[in-house]
Amino acid sequence: MSSQKIRGVKGTRDVLPTDTYVKDDDPWIRIGHLHLIERAARELFPLYGYREARTPILERTELFVRGIGEVTDIVGKEMYTFEDHGDKVSMRPENTASLVRAYVEHNVNQQEPETKWWYLGPMFRRERQQRGRYRQFTQIGIEAFGSPGPRIDAEQIEMLDRWLRSLGIPFEMHLNTLGDSACRPKYREALQAYLRSRSADLCEDCRKRTETNPIRVLDCKNPKCQEVAAGAPKMADFLCDACRGHFDQLQNSLKALGVGFIIDSRLVRGLDYYTRTAYEAIATSGLGAQSTVAGGGRYDGLVRELGGPDIPGIGFAAGVERMALLLAQQGKEAATKPALFIAPLGDAEAARADQLAQQLRAAGIAAEVGFRKANPGNQLKRADALGAKYALVLGDSELKTGRANLKELKTGVQQEVSLDELVQKLSGDR
Ligand code: ATP
Ligand code: MG
Repeated sequence: MSSQKIRGVKGTRDVLPTDTYVKDDDPWIRIGHLHLIERAARELFPLYGYREARTPILERTELFVRGIGEVTDIVGKEMYTFEDHGDKVSMRPENTASLVRAYVEHNVNQQEPETKWWYLGPMFRRERQQRGRYRQFTQIGIEAFGSPGPRIDAEQIEMLDRWLRSLGIPFEMHLNTLGDSACRPKYREALQAYLRSRSADLCEDCRKRTETNPIRVLDCKNPKCQEVAAGAPKMADFLCDACRGHFDQLQNSLKALGVGFIIDSRLVRGLDYYTRTAYEAIATSGLGAQSTVAGGGRYDGLVRELGGPDIPGIGFAAGVERMALLLAQQGKEAATKPALFIAPLGDAEAARADQLAQQLRAAGIAAEVGFRKANPGNQLKRADALGAKYALVLGDSELKTGRANLKELKTGVQQEVSLDELVQKLSGDR
């Protein structure tokens, strides 16, 4: 009886050590690229004072309903939600709400006036799978609590800019302001009136959004809706003095820090607790429709909305797979390759090979040994396939004399070395 293969869940992906295993229409996300991106974040973010925070994947559904908003696509139709013995829980679709929950739950504001956290991990949204859009994907992001800005807004944007640049990602930084509770309601009214007058040209979703969340229409991907959005009233014309001042100063700070940006009046977050600054890094080539690499913004009302004190916040979230797709197109990759492949020809040689490899690894040098009985030619092929720099064949005479030929695979050049000095030899070589 043969049993059937079990396939992975739609919209999820395996990221395997190389993409050569994967016969897929979209085989370009490699672990080496994910590592490059993660490592750059781990090194850079602490330089700006961000410390890593990890929160659970499962949260109470209510957290996202209040923290993201019931009228959003994410909460309305994309969350993985289930009953857990009477509790309604969801797999997190993003991390901001969770970090705000943790911030409030642990009374962090009573211990420090300003808090900077960064995070990395999987998020879940039941979306239509496309290139750069998956049902499980990874975000790296930051949140800063306690600073009303605009200097910290500029600092975050500068950090995002530096991170993406250090990876060689081609992008433009888009910037907008969404006003606040003093000025946005009037804008919302004007926008709604305009959208109602153009409702015949809107997609069905946007006709609904006109009534529930009109600001969101501005960032609909549908070309006809974009045409309507192009003629819509602009937030900039409705800003109160405080919001106008915040936005002007933010731009001045960015200029002083030498960060380029483009004012984009259609860049929005749809909910009332998102205020003032909104920014997005948009790839200028290589991603097609899913070109937004990272999105960020200020959420001065969110901590209070989630039961905490009146504390401002701002953060961004970046899509790691989208960044990896861009790096793959540039052929960059971080992979550890063995410095040496040792090919033993018999049992006694195998024992010596294992010891030599152990010594090399203890000295921080990547080494591999042949485990199969094979002739030297085939062993060398294996060394080549692993991308080893050197190979060394251990036979009877090498064991007796304690000396062997170290062969550089790329050039074929050989040199005789003492087995006892192998570690020293390869350490000096690095
Ligand atoms: P989009 O407009 O592309 O759907 P979004 O507004 O839903 O993005 P955010 O919730 O702001 O995205 O998430 C921040 C980033 O996370 C996005 O810019 C993107 O890079 C990434 N991201 C969001 N959803 C997905 C997904 N389903 N698959 C892969 N990456 C995603
Ligand atoms: Mg989305």
